[in-house]
Amino acid sequence: MVSWSPDVAGRLSLQLLKGVGTALELKLQRLGLQSIEDLWMHLPLRYQDRTRLLPLAGLQPGDEALVQVQVVLADRAQGRRPSFLCRVQDGTGSLTLRFFHFNAGQMKSLTPGVCLECFGEVRPGPAGLEMIHPEYRVIPHLGLPVERAALTPIYPLTEGLPQTRIRRLLEQSLLYLTPEALPDLLPSAWLQRQGMPGLIEALRFLHQPPPNVDQQALLSGQHPAQQRLVLEELLAHHLSLQRVRAVLRAPGALSLPRSQTLQKQFLARLPFPLTAAQQRVGEEIAQDLTAQVPMLRLVQGDVGSGKTLVAALAVLQAVEAGQQAVVMAPTEILAEQHYRNFSAWLEPLGIQVAWLVGKLKGKARHQQLQAIASGEAQVVLGTHALFQEGVAFASLALLVIDEQHRFGVHQRLSLREKGCAEGRMPHQLIMTATPIPRTLTMSAYADLDVSIIDELPPGRTPIQTLVLADTRRDEVIERVREACQQGRQAYWVCTLIEESEALQCQAAEVTAAQLAERLPELTIGLVHGRMKAADKAEVMRAFKAGELALLVATTVIEVGVDVPNASLMIIENPERLGLAQLHQLRGRVGRGTAASHCVLMYHAPLSQAGRERLAVMRETQDGFRIAEKDLELRGPGEVLGTRQTGMMQFRIADLTRDAHWIPTLHVLAEQMLAQTPQEAEALIRRWMGSSEAYAQV
Ligand code: ADP
Ligand code: MG
Repeated sequence: MVSWSPDVAGRLSLQLLKGVGTALELKLQRLGLQSIEDLWMHLPLRYQDRTRLLPLAGLQPGDEALVQVQVVLADRAQGRRPSFLCRVQDGTGSLTLRFFHFNAGQMKSLTPGVCLECFGEVRPGPAGLEMIHPEYRVIPHLGLPVERAALTPIYPLTEGLPQTRIRRLLEQSLLYLTPEALPDLLPSAWLQRQGMPGLIEALRFLHQPPPNVDQQALLSGQHPAQQRLVLEELLAHHLSLQRVRAVLRAPGALSLPRSQTLQKQFLARLPFPLTAAQQRVGEEIAQDLTAQVPMLRLVQGDVGSGKTLVAALAVLQAVEAGQQAVVMAPTEILAEQHYRNFSAWLEPLGIQVAWLVGKLKGKARHQQLQAIASGEAQVVLGTHALFQEGVAFASLALLVIDEQHRFGVHQRLSLREKGCAEGRMPHQLIMTATPIPRTLTMSAYADLDVSIIDELPPGRTPIQTLVLADTRRDEVIERVREACQQGRQAYWVCTLIEESEALQCQAAEVTAAQLAERLPELTIGLVHGRMKAADKAEVMRAFKAGELALLVATTVIEVGVDVPNASLMIIENPERLGLAQLHQLRGRVGRGTAASHCVLMYHAPLSQAGRERLAVMRETQDGFRIAEKDLELRGPGEVLGTRQTGMMQFRIADLTRDAHWIPTLHVLAEQMLAQTPQEAEALIRRWMGSSEAYAQV
């Protein structure tokens, strides 16, 4: 037992560990590790088996193996990359150790006759199997007993912090791991009933699993020790969202009475009636707005389901109550499009509409700011720049956020701070066209109420989707020519591996030039992410006005652009995109009355999964089905766009695999909040402690 003393927050400092000074502590903090407790919770990604020696004769490429060998030959090899090679054997077979980085000392110590213990991955080489840069140590003779009794954990790393270092720190930290230092926070009666391992037991097991353990179960996350932690993590996450929910609603909101006149006037001027789904969701929102608790409602509705109208109804309720409303879009293009729509709808009703985006400068900007601050502007359209730049509102009562999947809990919390005035919160309406599978909604958006617009306006002709190999590019170009000659418009979408936006833009430029050569009679526009916002907006305007027949674009057009006359879309390399993204893109066509087509032009060969995914796109236009399928094929991180937003990072839980816990954790959360609220707090801190957004609450 090691003696210890916790810091103020009751946590053990990392500096208690041997060898941890300020520099190392900083590196550990980059991994989100602030205390010894965090270290215990830093779980391995996988394991290596260094508990047994493997004979060289049985090695296969891809094996990770611990071997004891004797050097028979050591030499430098010239070649494209000079390397130092050691031929070794163990009596059953032989192997080459290859070093690209080596020094004189190493060459001197690895001479024939020397015995080594090595661990590394086995790969095929030019003369039989090799290990490249194995870990090794010199040993006195072959047949030395192996030191390790447990599987070797492999941890997530950060730069400048090697595996061996973090492993040693963990080994040390486990000396401090006691029930006093890390109390079990789940209700003990419940744990016993379930026959679940205790927390300490589970952690010890995962950091130092015995050699006879079923590695497959461990790797697939199904081991009871892991599932125990999975449940704990999901529970912490759920509790934290419940808390966010409570915090966001705590300030209270202004009750907005139901609209008596403006909504009626607005609806009377529309050339069509609302769909039943729009009416239902509109009603849910109208009801929410009358409460003195801020609304926090997520509206999910497929592309083209008419979410904007529903938002307009909410805006009218705020305006009629003498308050201001903001509609926020993720891009300037969309903000401008909304501005035009809302102006056209609302100005005839005598409502003042303003807009504010980054590109608005000087006097124009000043005027808008004034109008917003004085309350003269009743409705304001813009991007999230609205909130970053400390714009003052006269009386903001409603905030509509369009295309929510780009915002996460973090942003919702920071909006709370900026939007709060006189101790009140504006009501929030969040709209997304990315249908989110139910399991994900329940856990990722537990702080929101959810409405679903599950119906498209009548009269839409379904989009016919074709899946073609890019060897048929010429035919596809002809198709574009014909469509445009008939007065219709088309999109040509270029995709590339998303890591490189620069390459993607370049590809779009090249494609636009090629298409211009092949289709000289068409006016062709180009829009991509590296263009200036003003230039992008101008191209979009021209396309919308029908001045351009064909628009070559990167995936920047994904969100919300509305050009009803465009009825053909070509998507190059659709196999590189997620289904939800393809669905979003495809939703740009099929918005008018003309029959629409989408050509998914893939590059052969397609993987089995790739074929399956494109088949889903061909078969259905139902965003929810596509989302479920996407979740199944790619996992929740990809579906929710975790990588972009950092919105949901689980350390051990996997929502697809572990969805069976959701009902349980709802029950447990309720029980803990009622009976052991301090444990609930501690659980959130344990799992979310280092995540900024949660720490703020
Ligand atoms: P999204 O849900 O993708 O934001 P929009 O609000 O942009 O959809 O609406 C798409 C198109 O459908 C718009 O042109 C809009 O005018 C039209 N629309 C919306 N509601 C109806 C309706 N009830 N009947 C007919 N057309 C509608
Ligand atoms: Mg929209």
